[in-house]
Amino acid sequence: MAIRLANNCINCDNLMDGNICAIHKVMVNTHYTCDNFEMKAKLNDERNCVTCSRYQESDCANPDKAAPGMLCAAWAPQQANA
Ligand code: SF4
Ligand code: SF4
Repeated sequence: MAIRLANNCINCDNLMDGNICAIHKVMVNTHYTCDNFEMKAKLNDERNCVTCSRYQESDCANPDKAAPGMLCAAWAPQQANA
């Protein structure tokens, strides 16, 4: 099964220099997330079926709807460092 990006502080747009959360004003790390999580814009822009490791594969969650520009919750990066 393909791995997916985690919705944790390291991928959050609210993370500032020094691993400080701009919302909570505390130091955070990969172990944390919260309801204010916002995927970093760069990562968010890159997420669609074309960049999904499941695109046109047997493990695609929505093979009938998958297309460039589409996205579903089962999106998975093509590379672990995506
Ligand atoms: S807003 Fe939430 S998910 Fe984002 S860095 Fe702060 S604690 Fe982490
Ligand atoms: S429908 Fe979902 S699982 Fe299928 S390619 Fe698109 S994002 Fe990936």
